[in-house]
Amino acid sequence: MRIIDHHIAGYSGGAGGRTPVAGQARFGDIFDPNTGEVQAQVPLGTKADLDVAVAAALKAQPGWAATNPQRRARVMFEFKRLVEANMDELAHMLSSEHGKVIADSKGDVQRGLEVIEFCCGIPHILKGEFTQGAGPGIDVYSMRQPLGIGAGITPFNFPAMIPMWMFGVAIATGNAFILKPSERDPSVPRRLSELMTEAGAPEGILQCVQGDKEMVDAILDHPAIAAISFVGSSDIAHYVYKRGVENGKRVQAMGGAKNHGIVMPDADLDQVVADLSGAAFGSAGERCMALPVVVPVGDKTANALREKLIPAIDALRVGVSTDNDAHYGPVVSAQHRERIEKWIQTGVDEGAELVVDGRGFELQGHEKGFFIGPSLFDHVTPDMSAYKEEIFGPVLQIVRAHDFEEAVRLPSDHQYGNGVAIFTRNGHAAREFAARVNVGMVGINVPIPVPVAYHTFGGWKRSAFGDTNQHGMEGVKFWTKVKTVTQRWPDGSAGVDDAANAFVIPTMG
Ligand code: NAD
Repeated sequence: MRIIDHHIAGYSGGAGGRTPVAGQARFGDIFDPNTGEVQAQVPLGTKADLDVAVAAALKAQPGWAATNPQRRARVMFEFKRLVEANMDELAHMLSSEHGKVIADSKGDVQRGLEVIEFCCGIPHILKGEFTQGAGPGIDVYSMRQPLGIGAGITPFNFPAMIPMWMFGVAIATGNAFILKPSERDPSVPRRLSELMTEAGAPEGILQCVQGDKEMVDAILDHPAIAAISFVGSSDIAHYVYKRGVENGKRVQAMGGAKNHGIVMPDADLDQVVADLSGAAFGSAGERCMALPVVVPVGDKTANALREKLIPAIDALRVGVSTDNDAHYGPVVSAQHRERIEKWIQTGVDEGAELVVDGRGFELQGHEKGFFIGPSLFDHVTPDMSAYKEEIFGPVLQIVRAHDFEEAVRLPSDHQYGNGVAIFTRNGHAAREFAARVNVGMVGINVPIPVPVAYHTFGGWKRSAFGDTNQHGMEGVKFWTKVKTVTQRWPDGSAGVDDAANAFVIPTMG
């Protein structure tokens, strides 16, 4: 069986690169969701594996931090070139473990690369602040210094983009980074860490450890790891946040989502249907910025939207992830498909109207693949658990709002607050909505408002724990600490300061 091993400096790589301690090695299966077959295995690492990675990181980091930022940026430029040169290989690898179609897999890599592009500007970004003459002969300046060793724990649904959100900024700012990707699709993150070493980052600056909860706990408890960035489901995010903070670490932990798309009566419904089809069903709904809830304002809008949505959903093509004509591929695992189908049943049991039922879908020739058809619910209400919880599958729910006020209230009151969109031609309504809605990322006629790399990504409420977002300046702040220096260079001519003043808090007055 093919093994997707750790990428740890000192392990020579491949399954034979080291001898697992007898009886201690655990492995996880990596499926091909198109066929349902196990295509490889991943070692589920231990604290002992982490210790080796940490030792290598500790050795490499001081030299990397002392490398001037322009040279660190050159490694980012080279990494970007290598990832682009390997784009096809990476996209196929990603697609075969995750199940998203090839074009979407390339998008996953590309959105991560945009953060690397941001990091190519790190010399400029890291310039500090300076005040000349803050007092008589006194200057004050600040500098941003790396934290030391950072770790990233990432979900299955963006195995290229999310690791790059984290390690791009962490490494460019002078940290060493240990990545623990999802054990369900670990090949791309591992390959990215190899490419970073090939690009010129010293051994130990980016390592990839494989594993599950055991490895996560080892990271959370490791005294040499200064900061942890997590992305995944909310309960785990909260756990990681609490345990990491208790151990004195800096933690940002992004969680689940249930994003709403508000459709005002004046919206262009054909455009909305086109946008919603992609945003609700693209990547089989396995995106934290998907739009699984649509909120038409007024019954007239709701009825017209529903009438247009049904044929658009019927026209969706579900296929293997290498089918260029497929709109979306299989979901990541058999258990996940089962979970989605259970939520559909819960929606029915709670009284919502199941307009299109995607359960029981089989793709001819791929009957064992993890496919599921698209589903549409109407008359979903806020008291239903199928509305409150994240389903993370190709299921769109219509929640009808009477007016604009109710449409603002629904996403604002929801436990999750990752993204939200409003579709309208009315600038005033859009402006009001953006200002008032209690959600972290807002799209105005943009269904998936994932901010560009030089802005910053992060939700509110149970979609994120901690107070610093991913990438952009927020990411730079997360991965660095500020040192502020107050300096005086007396020329000696003024003699010794009045001794009495030494006992008074210094002021610049
Ligand atoms: P997950 O929470 O199951 O796993 C995320 C990571 O946590 C993985 O690396 C996994 O190995 C680890 N993990 C799993 N169980 C653990 C446990 N009990 N203790 C410690 N670590 C554990 O998430 P997933 O299914 O891989 O990803 C989907 C979820 O991620 C969805 O909820 C989605 O909304 C969310 N997500 C959020 C964002 C965001 O930015 N807010 C982005 C992408 C995905």
